[in-house]
Amino acid sequence: MIKRLNELELKGKRVFVRVDFNVPIHQGKISESHRIESVLPTLRFVIGRAETTLIASHLGRPGGKRDPASSLAPVRDFLEQALASPVALAPDCVGSEVDALVRDPQRKIILLENLRFHKEEEKNDPGFARALAALADVYVNDAFGAAHRAHASTAGMAAYFQAKGAGLLMQKEMDYLGKILAGPDRPFVAVLGGAKVSDKIGVIRNLLPKLDSLLIGGGMAYTFLKAQGISIGRSLVEEGRIELARELLDQAKAAGVALLLPTDHIAAGKDRKNPTETGVAIPEGLAGLDIGPKTRSLFHQEIRKAKLALWNGPVGLFEDARFSGGTLDVAHALADSGAVVVVAGGDTVAAVMQAGLQDRFTHLSTGGGATLEFLEGRTLPGVAALEVNA
Ligand code: AMP
Repeated sequence: MIKRLNELELKGKRVFVRVDFNVPIHQGKISESHRIESVLPTLRFVIGRAETTLIASHLGRPGGKRDPASSLAPVRDFLEQALASPVALAPDCVGSEVDALVRDPQRKIILLENLRFHKEEEKNDPGFARALAALADVYVNDAFGAAHRAHASTAGMAAYFQAKGAGLLMQKEMDYLGKILAGPDRPFVAVLGGAKVSDKIGVIRNLLPKLDSLLIGGGMAYTFLKAQGISIGRSLVEEGRIELARELLDQAKAAGVALLLPTDHIAAGKDRKNPTETGVAIPEGLAGLDIGPKTRSLFHQEIRKAKLALWNGPVGLFEDARFSGGTLDVAHALADSGAVVVVAGGDTVAAVMQAGLQDRFTHLSTGGGATLEFLEGRTLPGVAALEVNA
């Protein structure tokens, strides 16, 4: 079993909270703080009860070396404001100075410096894991976005704790993504998009037996259309996956899943100027960059019926306003559906934010790779490491 935060005894304890503060920073300023904001409830919960709260994260790819550009200093400033409390930034995440700091009764909240300043972190080095574990009495993991990695701070160090559990965000992710995997509410509709089929094969295979409808748009749709012998012009395609797309189409049919592909497109030439509507076949020289109006209403009809829905991947090149219509349309249709809707993937969450609909979805998953691996039915090392005997 995995303990919830409110099942852990935190009073008088030093609590290590692993979070995912891997946020974009430009000129010392955090440009997108969603990841930090999503763990604030966990931090407030722990800070309100623990003797000392140690917060640990990775940031960027410093490659196992100290790199001032990847320092968590801007995150410390952000946290002090958000928590309205002093937050000490430790000079490192292990070592004698850190040991002294975490034992200083004056320090209540300490942000450890970037875990990836040590190459041992990503190697899940046992000595490094033990050194991290020695800092605290209780281990809380709220870094769902890093849970698919078996690193020292996400997996290795957990072995040294009896008192350990999931943070509120990790718990929410497991609860909602677990609901998607169980697929209890019917009709269950999935909308998949994004650039590549290859990233989504595991998810399609795992969910197919549970789904009622699978709506496929975006770049990945063209491999499926080509598999059906439809001309796709110069649209994105994974030639090596055409056979697999054919197999998935057959599997969907055998499982009685309505698999819907685009029946029309917004397409453009290489310069992307003059977008034009096309039928299902795309003329030579043009690439399909968004789903067309007929497809949008087809998708609407399916989405309207849903009781449970998963959305992963934009259905067009949504970063370009000329090709964002289909993706925004899907966002609105899902928001209006009344279904339990889980949105997964950085681009998809960005599209929901762009549409200003973030408050109208049941759950916006914070994980990229972690969410996809969870939906593939795989056990995430960061989740498995939290298991304790009941
Ligand atoms: P992914 O990371 O696989 O979810 O893919 C997301 C990316 O796919 C976004 O940058 C989209 O702009 C892009 N994308 C979606 N549909 C298309 C399309 N029809 N052609 C080219 N790129 C697309």
